[in-house]
Amino acid sequence: MAGDRKQTFQTELLIDQQLVAGEGPVEPILNPATGAVLCEVAEASQEQVNRAVSAAHRAFDGWSQTTPAERSLALLRLADLVEANAERFARLESLNCGKPYARALGDEIPAIADCFRYFAGAARCMTGSIAGEYLAGHTSMIRRDPIGVVASIAPWNYPLMMAAWKTAPALAAGNTVVLKPSEQTPLTALLFARLAADVLPKGVLNVVCGRGNSVGQPLVEHPQVRMVSLTGDVSTGRKILQAASATLKRTHLELGGKAPVIVFDDADIAEVVAGVRTFGYYNAGQDCTAACRIYAGAKTYDRVVADLTSAAASLKIGTQDEEGVELGPLISDRQRNRVASFVERAQMQGHMEVTTGGRLAAGAGFFYEPTVIAGARQEDEIVQREVFGPVVSVTRFTDVEQVIDWANSSEYGLASSVWTRDVAVAMQVARRLQYGCTWINTHFMLANEMPHGGLKSSGYGKDMSMYALEDYTVPRHVMVKL
Ligand code: NAD
Repeated sequence: MAGDRKQTFQTELLIDQQLVAGEGPVEPILNPATGAVLCEVAEASQEQVNRAVSAAHRAFDGWSQTTPAERSLALLRLADLVEANAERFARLESLNCGKPYARALGDEIPAIADCFRYFAGAARCMTGSIAGEYLAGHTSMIRRDPIGVVASIAPWNYPLMMAAWKTAPALAAGNTVVLKPSEQTPLTALLFARLAADVLPKGVLNVVCGRGNSVGQPLVEHPQVRMVSLTGDVSTGRKILQAASATLKRTHLELGGKAPVIVFDDADIAEVVAGVRTFGYYNAGQDCTAACRIYAGAKTYDRVVADLTSAAASLKIGTQDEEGVELGPLISDRQRNRVASFVERAQMQGHMEVTTGGRLAAGAGFFYEPTVIAGARQEDEIVQREVFGPVVSVTRFTDVEQVIDWANSSEYGLASSVWTRDVAVAMQVARRLQYGCTWINTHFMLANEMPHGGLKSSGYGKDMSMYALEDYTVPRHVMVKL
């Protein structure tokens, strides 16, 4: 059986262009839709982490001196590899995360290939101040240079997409990378590593697996790592900041979210409901931008609750390949218990009503029913804390100042949306929202040309766009005495 598993899944790490088995403890990798073990991946030992960082460190000098055109070509090849293996990647991602296969194939893989293609182009298009004689007799010029070895630490909700968001700009800028996928979802990163080994020079990309404490922490603390990029939980961001402080590493943090969805009375409610049905429950709500915190105007509140309740109840739950499946399981039993406990605590409050869902769904996997909680108040835990599951709360508001204040009175600052037919109201509210992104009359739409990243406890640093390329480079001044 173990032999069969090894044939099916790539479980080896990539260190200095070698595919090697991890020498640390073994982690079972589950299919969340059934709870079955798919395979086992041994995590990297401390010595393997050191070897990966040393390899990236050695490779930096050569890779950082390649031309943007050469790096661009490598990224285009990576995009082609992702596309050529689209079905394999989508199959692995959907098995390991429980996602509907059609969504992994149709939504995620094209966006991942496009991310590599975007940064292939962006690598050749950086702009900056002009060179000139800012002091008489001296010519100054600005360079934008790579930083060194980047530790890229990815979460489990979109494993390969997060790996692409981190590695593409880092490599495009001329850095070398040690990528650590989530210990729960390493399979697509490991396949990517194997394929990328034929495209990238030795040591430019290394992939090590393992848990945060045993593998992530030593990676972050390694003195030859010059930058750490994390997508993960706020508490992990804090730990990384502390660890990075010893060697003053540059950090790039993409943490959680609790997106407010402001629905004014004049909004097209059918559009709102269709939007929240999709964007509140996509990926079983395990999305840092999920449309999960609705503020509905007083006149429209009842209709929003009623229509969203029936819309959410109509979502089709199921395993990866079920016909028409829209909602997969949560990533683990632990995550499902966490989500369930948020809903239980909300129910105990008395003033909130679970209008649909609120229960574990049938089946061996970690399914949870799509849930709507009406009557939530601003101070409620369900409004304030990230649930990271298929749970949407609805709160009634009465005026615009109140709703802007409520939307902004949050620890998080990643994504938000405003729904109204009045362009002036939309623009005025968007301007005052303290969020990295505000959508108007939609939610969740991303483009590789546009930045993604937060404010406040949602972290800082941008993924995607030219801003990411800036984050992975440092501006330098070179001055010549004439
Ligand atoms: P997590 O923080 O538990 O894990 C993220 C990664 O960090 C994993 O690879 C983990 O092994 C690693 N890690 C954990 N402790 C570490 C340590 N001490 N040192 C180094 N690495 C460590 O997060 P998760 O549960 O995998 O993902 C869910 C979280 O990610 C949610 O809070 C979600 O909002 C957030 N998220 C944010 C964005 C964004 O763009 N802002 C996108 C997706 C997910």
